Amino acid sequence: DISNYSGHDGSSIQRPTIKFTKLFINGEFVDSISGKTFETIDPTTCEVTARISEADKEDVDLAVKAARQAFDFGPWPRMSGLERSKIMLKWADLIEEHVEELAALDTIDGGKLYHYSKDYEIPLAASMLRYYAGAADKIHGQVLKASMEFHAYTLMEPVGVVGHIIPWNGPSFLLFTKVSPSIAAGCTMVVKPAEQTPLSALFYAHLANQAGVPDGVINVVQGYGHKAGAAIASHMDIDAVSFTGSTEVGRKIMEAAARSNLKQVSLELGGKSPLIVFDDADLDKAAEFAVLGIFFNKGEVCCASSRVLVQEGIYDEFEKKLLEKAKAWAIGDPFDSKTQHGPQTSKDQYEKILSYIEIGKREGATLLLGGKPVDTKGYYIEPTIFSDVKEDMRIAQEEIFGPLLSVLKFKTVEEAIKMANNTKYGLAAGIITKNLDTANTVSRSIRAGIIWINCYYALGNDIPFGGYKMSGFGKDYGLDALYKFLHVKSVVTPIYNSPW
Ligand code: NAD
Repeated sequence: DISNYSGHDGSSIQRPTIKFTKLFINGEFVDSISGKTFETIDPTTCEVTARISEADKEDVDLAVKAARQAFDFGPWPRMSGLERSKIMLKWADLIEEHVEELAALDTIDGGKLYHYSKDYEIPLAASMLRYYAGAADKIHGQVLKASMEFHAYTLMEPVGVVGHIIPWNGPSFLLFTKVSPSIAAGCTMVVKPAEQTPLSALFYAHLANQAGVPDGVINVVQGYGHKAGAAIASHMDIDAVSFTGSTEVGRKIMEAAARSNLKQVSLELGGKSPLIVFDDADLDKAAEFAVLGIFFNKGEVCCASSRVLVQEGIYDEFEKKLLEKAKAWAIGDPFDSKTQHGPQTSKDQYEKILSYIEIGKREGATLLLGGKPVDTKGYYIEPTIFSDVKEDMRIAQEEIFGPLLSVLKFKTVEEAIKMANNTKYGLAAGIITKNLDTANTVSRSIRAGIIWINCYYALGNDIPFGGYKMSGFGKDYGLDALYKFLHVKSVVTPIYNSPW
């Protein structure tokens, strides 16, 4: 599709030509063995954007064979970290050169905001490559003095062939949270993007190839979870699987890993993260964080603040401000620079969110805002707020992954902590208060992987991110993510006649 797209703000953005639709195996774009393809749909127009080669088990086998060969005999794990880092830096430069085209692909695939992707999300993907490129030549073990008679040291070795399974809400940056540390570590990989958003991953693979990443190091097998994804999770020749997605599928990944070769598993899963607003909070800021926390990326964010817990003294005033700011949240075409809220990524997701709105009404929560699809083409849903939500309601417990906010009331700090922890998830939490003691107590009492005090969504390459409880285990970002893809090997040798 090469027709020109005119944004509502008058700018004219060139719709991308879809250049890559085949599987990427051993440095080449190839058809799937079965010749089957699947459709990818633009959620703004509900039209088919492209037909994409569909990988099945046999294609995954070929991709794993290429990755195995590249790991066991190829140059990537054997070259110096500095050489790997040079190629990674070149790849990052190429990504920035093609940022507009990549951003447009994510917009037509996932309804993501074009300008946000172009200005922030894809540059963030490139910066992740650069962060781990900087670490690639600093991977080393330790020298140990085991005892008088033995000398020992540790080696840090890449874990091997890694399977990366990616969800659809962040096709660019979630891909790079996995690829960047593992490629810096010297691993080779088979990547499965989500079937809803396969386009940009293929473009990234092409750019990797241009940057000099050797054949077989990165392979992309787009297809369905129960076929291509399941084939990765149960493969006997994959050493580790790194998964981001739902808790339900995370459980399947672990089961498949256990039943096959006990491959190493790391899981970044769902959440029901609380934003806690205390009596002394700056209410304008708190309302801003609450709106951003739930409506950013139309609520399709794993660490979205889908529960806002508000202290009773400020409940009514906070709700007024929340409503004001939420009403100003701009729904529109994701190519338009003024739009803050595009369509949900897929029809399934759209229907799931609408069903939760009905559940909220049936459960007796007060519908404060929204609650309907937007009357237009595309999978748009109004920003929706339920107030007077009770802890045991399904809209307070289950991950909806859409623009639906539940507001709950609490009295004391202790009650806030109890409510915040009353979930099977533990991904993130936000605390809005000026009281240092409250901030310190609450941040240490919440069982979640990241706590934001007087901010929300503050993420960075060096800040580890990952869940507690049923939000998974194993960190993305930071050096923790690099170590996830490294094995520690101990080497011990006797020292005869040591004077020490
Ligand atoms: P999903 O679990 O349905 O799918 C994620 C990926 O897994 C897709 O590529 C899919 O094809 C694949 N998959 C599905 N079934 C599979 C199977 N049986 N075996 C192997 N792979 C399979 O999740 P989704 O709907 O794409 O994404 C939304 C979920 O992801 C939400 O729960 C969200 O919270 C979570 N998420 C978590 C994080 C995080 O960092 N914790 C980040 C983003 C999204």
